[in-house]
Amino acid sequence: MDNNRLTIKINEKDNVAVAIMDLEKGTDIGSGIVTRDFIPQAHKIALKTIEKDEAVIRYGVCLGYAKERIEKGSWINEHMLNLPKSPSLDELEWGTNIVEDLPDPPRKTWLGYKNESGPAGTRNLLGIVTTVQCAAGVLKVAVEEIRKTLLPKYPNVEDVVAITHPYGCGVAINAPMAVIPIRAVTNLIRHPNFGGEVMVVGLGCEKLTYERVLPPEQINEENVLTLQDYAGRDAMIEAIMKMAERKLEKLNRRKREELPLSDLLIGMQCGGSDAFSGITANPSAGYAADMLVKGGATVLFSEVTEVRDGVNLLAHRCISKEVCDKLASEMRWYDNYLEEGGVDRDANPTPGNKKGGLANIVEKAMGSIAKSGTSPIVEVLSPAEKPTKKGLIFAATPASDIVCGPSQVASGIGLQVFMTGRGTPYGLEVAPVIKVCSRNELKDHWFDLIDISAGDVAIGKKTIAEVGTEIFNFILDVASGIKKPFSDIYGFHNDMCIFNPAPIT
Ligand code: CA
Repeated sequence: MDNNRLTIKINEKDNVAVAIMDLEKGTDIGSGIVTRDFIPQAHKIALKTIEKDEAVIRYGVCLGYAKERIEKGSWINEHMLNLPKSPSLDELEWGTNIVEDLPDPPRKTWLGYKNESGPAGTRNLLGIVTTVQCAAGVLKVAVEEIRKTLLPKYPNVEDVVAITHPYGCGVAINAPMAVIPIRAVTNLIRHPNFGGEVMVVGLGCEKLTYERVLPPEQINEENVLTLQDYAGRDAMIEAIMKMAERKLEKLNRRKREELPLSDLLIGMQCGGSDAFSGITANPSAGYAADMLVKGGATVLFSEVTEVRDGVNLLAHRCISKEVCDKLASEMRWYDNYLEEGGVDRDANPTPGNKKGGLANIVEKAMGSIAKSGTSPIVEVLSPAEKPTKKGLIFAATPASDIVCGPSQVASGIGLQVFMTGRGTPYGLEVAPVIKVCSRNELKDHWFDLIDISAGDVAIGKKTIAEVGTEIFNFILDVASGIKKPFSDIYGFHNDMCIFNPAPIT
């Protein structure tokens, strides 16, 4: 690879390239092309003159159509393109790109907490889930007290987590779409990192009753606690502490053991993306995902609006018509959801994405999909559903970082790999989050927030396979409790903003 290159062109069909660094006007970028404007890092340069209404092509796909003629060497920004139509969801062609030749994982086992069923835990946590936000304040105080006075007595338990989501009351609980937040709470209670120990705190008058999230045999004084039953502050805290201690005693018996990769379930997400995300960080994470899948693990990727424009490419990777149909139905549901809100998929890119060179949702989507690697898609999940298969799975969620995270956690991920270009300190309390950045400038700037930089891929110092292997190894070290990502070292954890598309009353 050329270490002194100034731009990257991804696909031979492309008529644009991306600037590796800020380029002054008048810079000779080779092949007889001289920049006509200042080109900010990660932004696009026209490699040839593009006529009005002609397609602007990157990743070999049409990002949009030129609103006006664009001279060779010009800067192409988000204001210069008309958005193309998104691919049709009718008659998607499935199964035409089933890749079986995946990279071999360098390690075949990890150290996890085996569960009776489902994926193993990456952490040993006491998880306490509220049925309503009204109980959150009391629970948070109780959890601080548990950490201080009880946790030191149970050294095998790594932490206590209060899941204080915004759902539970003041909501249209019987609305068709309420199934999503209810399923999220139901599955969060049974997260693999909680070792099957159920602990639910309610207020007593909320709409999300215990019956909606627990089977009848688990609704008893061992597992559920209702604040309105207790006389005053001290009695409430004491009751929570007592229940917590019984759970901690059991959780303290859990031990890490050597497990096959088939016991590991992780998620992939990106956020604060830039035009490098799709060249460096996401393909490297995709390479790690391919290694995990080859080794038998399960990998979720998500973010509906960020795959919508590449849905035809994903359909080609679906192993059956059934999987492809569910993919189309999740996309259709989201198209309608956006339409009812009076917007379309291009409501997704943020000012930061655009500053980072992403012109529109098509360009963002093509980069975003790269994190799924090349494996066949064996299952498609609705938001917060649990997988029933092993391998690469598309789990439909919003692309919003703080909503996608909890949704994947509800699906049971033990770890999330998060790719970023602009930078975010994002983290989750239930499952460790590894942050991979797309540019070395961000790693230099946030040296103690970003775990791995894929920036060397852009400058030709490392290959995608090298960074992908580095990510794979770090995933196994973090899942095994050998290493901690920065977000866990500092306790930078976001709130559990579960997805509620149903009305609030
Ligand atoms: Ca995201």
